[in-house]
Amino acid sequence: MGNKEFDFIIIGSGIAGLYTALLAKETGTVLILTKGSLDECNTKYAQGGIAAPIGHGDSPQLHYDDTMAAGAGLCDPEAVRILTEEAGDRIADLIDLGVPFDTQFGAVALTREAAHSVPRILHAGGDATGERIEVTLSRAVRSSHRITIMEHFLATDIIVRDGVACGVRAFDSSVGSWEEFKSSNIILATGGAGRLFKLTTNPEIATGDGIALAYRAGAEITDMEFIQFHPTAVRFPGVPPFLISEAVRGEGGLLRDVEGRRFMPDYTPDAELAPRDIVARGTVAQMRKTESDRVFIDVTHLPRKTITTRFPTIYRFCLDHGLDITKGMIPVAPAAHYMMGGVRTNAYGETNIEGLFACGEVACTGVHGANRLASNSLMEVLVFSKRIIERAGGRAPSPPRKSNMDIHSGLKARDSRGIATPLRLAILQSLMWDDAGIIRSKEKLEEAGAVLAAWHSTLGTATDRPYYELCNMVLVGRLMIEAALIREESRGAHFRTDFPEPNPAWEKHIVFKNTNA
Ligand SMILES: Cc1cc2nc3c(=O)[nH]c(=O)nc-3n(C[C@H](O)[C@H](O)[C@H](O)COP(=O)(O)OP(=O)(O)OC[C@H]3O[C@@H](n4cnc5c(N)ncnc54)[C@H](O)[C@@H]3O)c2cc1C
Repeated sequence: MGNKEFDFIIIGSGIAGLYTALLAKETGTVLILTKGSLDECNTKYAQGGIAAPIGHGDSPQLHYDDTMAAGAGLCDPEAVRILTEEAGDRIADLIDLGVPFDTQFGAVALTREAAHSVPRILHAGGDATGERIEVTLSRAVRSSHRITIMEHFLATDIIVRDGVACGVRAFDSSVGSWEEFKSSNIILATGGAGRLFKLTTNPEIATGDGIALAYRAGAEITDMEFIQFHPTAVRFPGVPPFLISEAVRGEGGLLRDVEGRRFMPDYTPDAELAPRDIVARGTVAQMRKTESDRVFIDVTHLPRKTITTRFPTIYRFCLDHGLDITKGMIPVAPAAHYMMGGVRTNAYGETNIEGLFACGEVACTGVHGANRLASNSLMEVLVFSKRIIERAGGRAPSPPRKSNMDIHSGLKARDSRGIATPLRLAILQSLMWDDAGIIRSKEKLEEAGAVLAAWHSTLGTATDRPYYELCNMVLVGRLMIEAALIREESRGAHFRTDFPEPNPAWEKHIVFKNTNA
């Protein structure tokens, strides 16, 4: 192998990794480490679009208000202000890079999604927004001689010396050996952790690795109890959950139970357009009431042309599985979708470890609070990637994020005697889904926490990618469960039957920091 020292090391090749790499190459050499092929990521599955307050009648203030309302008291106002004020410029950057957003009457087309007060979602290829962004950015990355791409390299450790991040250890899974790379700017862009749950819209790469790497290195991890469950993932027998975008409800799709009855107005006046957590819980309640494992989303009343042009991917996917959605209702159920928490950063993507940055779904910038507003995540990536590269060049000390928080020094030991330790991914996923999913309680969380604690204490040394991922998932699962146990209230995406109401005393963040790092 040639040079092992770079000005920037970026871990991950979704929108966060690719966009940051394209900005970083203007100031130095860049290495992208990615554990699969370059195009394996959550980003390419994003359907609905990307939020920006650029339409008539919209403003950064309105976008700010909607984001703060969805976040249920836990958004960082400064981060949201930055997001909503810088969004328009980042859209202009994407257009310059060649992202082909859909247009209508000569202007960028905008649609509305749940909990947005006006249409502000840009989309591309109808419902193929993420794929169009990923293809455009990866083409630009591949054609730059200043960016080195290493595919099938799984980052396993952040190397920290004297409190400063200075390198990355990575496992080359194509040959089974380890390499070390040096840099004084290391950017985690490893995405989310949906694969911890039995039902998820996320692809296989979403195993929470970045959280585990950062935690082991001594970075602060926060808001891990807030997992967004999407209310509408397709439920076809034997087919992994496939997302039916929020935009389908935005365009007039209605939720009906197995008896064909529209039920969301029974739960909230906003009905299908309420925030995701409310629609997901309403859906679970209705599934229980009707003793069914599904509900339906109905678009049969919409014009055929609207369906086929606005949602060509969904239309084609369902047709391939024998359902013409212009004529029949789509069976759906909730699935784990997005991780609001992550590696705690300030407004420049800096973590508490000098030289270590985080952006994208792995990061917690404070934008989403207890619940993400639909289509804010792709925009969050662009806004904060840009700020990381501005900051990494200067390296001036920047203010830490101000927020009300409780710091927990590590994971508590839990009694694990008598619990078998079959380290099986499927068991972990079922456990997280059943005991730490949409509806939680102290009893269930403690049970799941004890199982994972027992597994954690017996994990051996990993020597292949699946085992590395499993070890990371056990650690990340423990952080999620511990946070969900500590937060004795219900807020945003976190719901506990034993504490069903929000409690003003809990308007603060739970932060974990590994004191043994
Ligand atoms: C089905 C679906 C639909 C969505 N729709 C929307 C939408 O319409 N609008 C919106 O704003 N958001 C949407 N989201 C969320 C959004 O797509 C993601 O939050 C966003 O794409 C995350 O980008 P990222 O770059 O942070 O992570 P990803 O795109 O997931 O990329 C992570 C990268 O890190 C790599 N990686 C992970 N671990 C390691 C490791 N240890 N070593 C090396 N590489 C590693 C992965 O291989 C991957 O390349 C959707 C998500 C899904 C799943």
